[in-house]
Amino acid sequence: MTCKHGLLVLALVPVLAWGHPDSPAIATWAPHGGQYLAPSIGGIQLTCRTHSGMPVVTVSDHFLGDVGFASPPNLIRMNPHALESMAPVAQVFWYAHECAHHYLPPGMNGETAADCWAAKKARDQGLIQASDIPSLSSTVWHTTGSPYGHPPGHLRVRLLNSCFADPTSAL
Ligand SMILES: [Zn+2]
Repeated sequence: MTCKHGLLVLALVPVLAWGHPDSPAIATWAPHGGQYLAPSIGGIQLTCRTHSGMPVVTVSDHFLGDVGFASPPNLIRMNPHALESMAPVAQVFWYAHECAHHYLPPGMNGETAADCWAAKKARDQGLIQASDIPSLSSTVWHTTGSPYGHPPGHLRVRLLNSCFADPTSAL
């Protein structure tokens, strides 16, 4: 699926079967260090591009101390154990959050902006419905703030709700 600027962002294709070599799920059986251009996240094949259009590579990291982590120039690490503990919509949200760090313009890709883009982009593409927000909020609520710009969980939930309700499309 292309966005209005014609860039391929979070393109999605229904997954035909878990474990298909072209759409590997980031599940606990995904080998540590496995690299994917179109991983299956929450049962949906997703891709991500950087602000400059470079394909983002997703790496399965069994030892990551978080759900996901984006690092330059085009890498996303996802923890399959953390993903498997979440509902599919939450998995999609966290992947989209990491994608946002790459896709949004430098200087506009901080934690709050990433949360907002993830909520709106997933909504725009029909991946998250209003009825999913309570489940999604429960995975965000317990998170703590950080020196890297993560607001405390209750503020992130408030932002997530207001971004989801914002009628403008994601970038
Ligand atoms: Zn982040």
